[in-house]
Amino acid sequence: MILADCHVHSEFSSDSQAPLSKIIEQAIAKEMQYFYLTDHHDIDFPIEAANGLDFQLDTARYLAALEELKTSYNDKIEIRTGVELGLMSHITDKLTDYTNQFSFDFIIGSSHLVRGMDPYYPSYYEGRSQKEAYLEYFESIYDNIKHFLDFDVYGHLDYVVRYGPDKTMKWQFSDYADIFEGILKELIQHGKGIEINTAGLYKGLGYPHPHKDILNMYKDFGGEIITIGSDAHSPEYLGYGFDAAEQLLISCGFRYYTLFKNRKPEFVLLEP
Ligand SMILES: [Zn+2]
Ligand SMILES: [Zn+2]
Repeated sequence: MILADCHVHSEFSSDSQAPLSKIIEQAIAKEMQYFYLTDHHDIDFPIEAANGLDFQLDTARYLAALEELKTSYNDKIEIRTGVELGLMSHITDKLTDYTNQFSFDFIIGSSHLVRGMDPYYPSYYEGRSQKEAYLEYFESIYDNIKHFLDFDVYGHLDYVVRYGPDKTMKWQFSDYADIFEGILKELIQHGKGIEINTAGLYKGLGYPHPHKDILNMYKDFGGEIITIGSDAHSPEYLGYGFDAAEQLLISCGFRYYTLFKNRKPEFVLLEP
């Protein structure tokens, strides 16, 4: 059994209404050993592009709330602090200021925007093929890594394929293998991991992010750091599909998954 869900949102993210205590109670009910909270902080996220949602995290208040809960849940579960940082190369200085200012146990770097545009919305695909739009998303990941590395794992690497205009969620990894080779080698070279994000299983993709071909490539290049997260925005999705994720990792030849404390990896044996 997986000891913690490393990608979880609460009411501190503007796209979640989940009371923090309810999610922690769910982690305890699922007999998890650790609770991670990784709410969104997306610097320069255009509010008008997100239907009025504001993805700026009130980080001081957030960390203070977690600190308080750490004490009250002391004998039930160990609470660890995280954040899901939206990466873009033009905000590198702001990202660096942010990670210098605040301390976390764990940081997920994610791509939610490309050139300020959200691939969730049709406007991102206008005037070009789906393949070109996907390629730009993946190339922006590579560009982000070249500019900023103060994160522990890169989140949901193939997130964009959930939103392509053909609505099939089907895509050919081989069309993008070159750019993934670049991304994964860069991550590995700098000691950065990736995550298995089981939201793919409950958002219609049929498999967790990223596609198995990407996991295999990461393994082949020597990658070893993989966290497991549900991307839950409400308590019922906490730990969703973790047995399947564990079996998937084992089938790709991984022997360990990873937890982070004080930004340091801890490797935990997968159980066949
Ligand atoms: Zn995300
Ligand atoms: Zn998330």
